[in-house]
Amino acid sequence: MPDQNLDNLRHSCAHLLAAAVMELYPKAQRTIGPAIDNGFYFDFDILKISDEDLPKIEAKMHEILPSWKSFERHELTLTDAKKEYPGNPYKHELVDEFSSQGERLSFYKSGDYWDLCRGGHVEHPNKQLKHFKLLSVAGAYWRGDEKNKMLTRIYGTIFPTKEELDKYLWQQAEAKKRDHRKIGAQLGLWTFSDYVGAGLPLFTQKGALIRRLTCELVEELQTQQGIAQVWTPQIAKADLFKISGHYDKYRENLFSVHSNYSNEEFFLKPMNCPQHTQIYASQSRSYRDLPIRMADFAMLYRDEKPGELLGLSRTRSFSQDDCHIFCREDQITEEMNMALDMTQKIMQVYGFKYKYRLSLHDPEHPEKYLGDPKTWKKAEQLSEKVLKDRGMEYFPGVGEAAFYAPKLDLIATDSLGREWQLSTLQIDFFMPQRFGLSYIDEKGQKQTPVMLHRAISGSPERLMAILIEHYAGAFPTWLAPIQIIVLPISDRQLDYAHKVEQQLKDQNIRVELNDKSEPLNARVRDAEMQKIPYILVVGNREAEANSVSVRSRASKETQSLSLSQFTSSITQEIATRACN
Ligand SMILES: [Zn+2]
Ligand SMILES: [Zn+2]
Repeated sequence: MPDQNLDNLRHSCAHLLAAAVMELYPKAQRTIGPAIDNGFYFDFDILKISDEDLPKIEAKMHEILPSWKSFERHELTLTDAKKEYPGNPYKHELVDEFSSQGERLSFYKSGDYWDLCRGGHVEHPNKQLKHFKLLSVAGAYWRGDEKNKMLTRIYGTIFPTKEELDKYLWQQAEAKKRDHRKIGAQLGLWTFSDYVGAGLPLFTQKGALIRRLTCELVEELQTQQGIAQVWTPQIAKADLFKISGHYDKYRENLFSVHSNYSNEEFFLKPMNCPQHTQIYASQSRSYRDLPIRMADFAMLYRDEKPGELLGLSRTRSFSQDDCHIFCREDQITEEMNMALDMTQKIMQVYGFKYKYRLSLHDPEHPEKYLGDPKTWKKAEQLSEKVLKDRGMEYFPGVGEAAFYAPKLDLIATDSLGREWQLSTLQIDFFMPQRFGLSYIDEKGQKQTPVMLHRAISGSPERLMAILIEHYAGAFPTWLAPIQIIVLPISDRQLDYAHKVEQQLKDQNIRVELNDKSEPLNARVRDAEMQKIPYILVVGNREAEANSVSVRSRASKETQSLSLSQFTSSITQEIATRACN
């Protein structure tokens, strides 16, 4: 979340980092050092260092800090500004760029160090820049352009208090352990193939199952709300996207497809909205027919820069629990409330805390959006009112709107306290207009419906990545690919073990039997590695008593239960989708 004070703190610490680097490596060339989400970085040229050098740089920063009592502003002429950076083409390029803003450029000085800067610092650096940590060294192209030279980037972070810094560092360490790509591979949930292509995940039986279960949860609630699924093709003509505006505003993300038999241009579909307008348009509609709700779980394809693809978090093929509601203006609030109710239920199932970002258009960049300011204002006010009336926690995000509508973006907090944007709810007055959609009102007049775009848990692929890290791979029983493993102590209990397995299978429970000739301990360890919720050990005593010895992953305790007692408790746990 943009927080000016935190940004100032972080950018100020980037100055301190540059000061330390310049003392230790006087030949290094400085470039830029902005605040970013969760920290800051500074890029240098002619600096050969690795992560091992960071403690030394940190120590230097602490050594310099006491002399930094304030940030003093100075103004230099363009020529003098360039003289400050002899032989540094990066700073010269920046000076030339800033020169359009005036004859003089601002420099900020702390202690013995100064740098070209527009400002945005803390007042008392020596008191405020205390709780920082340098995190890593990476390569980065000057201005992010791969045609430019590769520079050395040092990442760091700083927080106002030690507690916040410690929490963040713990979070980072824990997140590394929980990296969904690592756990996904351990659990065998999906794979990528060079023959298929980057960013195109292939789900195994286990991964496909989790994906389907998360979709079923949404489907179940949608059915209760009278929302049925439609199905639409994977490609559509360019004409469709020209009308929707995607062709103009979203072209770089579209995969184009060509026919062997005509010159028609097609695209793989990046979203379902334009197709759904055509289902709506297929019949004449009256005010009594509205709202018309269409859900679609079809696959979507978006072209992404190869360097930005990341496991299941960012892929080129994915789907969405997408729904479009065509309604009258007087129905908007009720429909939005239905969507927010559904979200509440789903977030509860996964155990996420959440809030909304009210994503508004950026009035300074009207070229990024469709439509007129008046309609934008109406949609934005309506969106905010729904949040206010429900007493929801929300914060504004200027410039975060879609090109056709403001958004309520669902921001969920996972078990590590990290925030993820999961899904959106949007009021769109423009797309129905562009496609000429209509209905006949009470007076027999033609009217344009409003289109609500709504997703709940967002993309099941991305959700899987988030859930893996949220649960550290230990899925609650209802989502676990294998819910129970049965381990006979020896071959003598094999018949009984099969009976237990069958009885659970009869209840549609996902159970496996491991009768490999390995010691029991090794098989238990293997089951624990797979994060299976329940391990049932059966020996002679269990076979005689028709019972099972249950080791629960959640409580780490072992309990002896009759087979029927265990079956009914786990059936209940699965049916209620309990978080365990
Ligand atoms: Zn600065
Ligand atoms: Zn949509």
